[in-house]
Amino acid sequence: MAVSKGLRLSERWFQRGLWLIAIIFAGFLIGLGRLVVGDLPKVEKPISAESFMDPVPLHDARLRLGNDEDALKQNDDALNTAELNTQHAAEATQTEQGSFDNWVATRSATEQSSQNPELVRRTKRLDEVKAAERSLQQKQDALESAHLQLQQARDADQAAEQRVEAAGQVGYEREVRRNELHVFLLRLAITLPLLLLAGLLFVKARKSSQWPFVWGFIFFALFTFFVELVPYLPSYGGYVRYIVGIVLTLAVGNYAIRALRRYLEKQKAEELKPEQERRKDLSYDMAQLRLSKRACPGCERPLDLADPTSNVCVHCGLLVFDTCQQCGTRQTVFTHFCRMCGLAKAARPQASQTTL
Ligand SMILES: [Zn+2]
Ligand SMILES: [Zn+2]
Repeated sequence: MAVSKGLRLSERWFQRGLWLIAIIFAGFLIGLGRLVVGDLPKVEKPISAESFMDPVPLHDARLRLGNDEDALKQNDDALNTAELNTQHAAEATQTEQGSFDNWVATRSATEQSSQNPELVRRTKRLDEVKAAERSLQQKQDALESAHLQLQQARDADQAAEQRVEAAGQVGYEREVRRNELHVFLLRLAITLPLLLLAGLLFVKARKSSQWPFVWGFIFFALFTFFVELVPYLPSYGGYVRYIVGIVLTLAVGNYAIRALRRYLEKQKAEELKPEQERRKDLSYDMAQLRLSKRACPGCERPLDLADPTSNVCVHCGLLVFDTCQQCGTRQTVFTHFCRMCGLAKAARPQASQTTL
């Protein structure tokens, strides 16, 4: 593991800076990927439902429907006028009837003759007004019945239009699904190889000196596949997403399990080697890091650094402490200089240098 192993202050800050570069690199890649994925639907030209309907019957039905609506509108206007006229006529009749009744009441008290010319005139006038109201009422009734017929005709034409539309809808929906599948497969064809490439880079190059770009690309590929693709998924797209997720988790999990087993086997093999050789193989920075965490630099098991009598790891037999050849101060064997007198430990096998 090359990442974050150095003990030098600047080195650690460089490592953090490189992680930041990995994230920024991923951010720019994601932005670019979003544009590319977002532009993909334009590959397919938009389809309209109408282009799947039989044009002649559709045109006919719509023409008839338009005429029906116009006729209904005219009928409505006429009916409104007729209703108003009938109402006025009814009011006129009522007024005439009232004045006639009053006249008859006052007259009957004084005159008895039934064949009075004034009575004939008034009766005739009342009959005329009533006849006018009846005629207007008949006109209104006729308009109302015409309204009903027009509504029925309109409903029939509407149903005819809907039948034509429904017949086209099947073909339209099939085309929409086909279109969706095409766009989805196109996106999958772009994002899935990215994911596979990211997997390959994870296995092969995540510890290389170019690791910030490798990790940036891995973040980008994961984000693009599992987040960016989501808004464009058709109904069954979730299956693809989750299945790929499951396969990926299985692959990474298996990889981690194998890595753990390899690590343990390597550690066991290491512990079988002669003590001096093991000490020589340990990297200087690695040894310092493990010691600072109170762990044996060799086997990584807990180590009591405070006990002045324990010089050797009781778990793996690695020599950890000894005394300076010049001043006799007790210290770890993993230092380059005596911390008391500064004696360079050139006689000791040099620990390998830090690797980035
Ligand atoms: Zn040990
Ligand atoms: Zn010394």
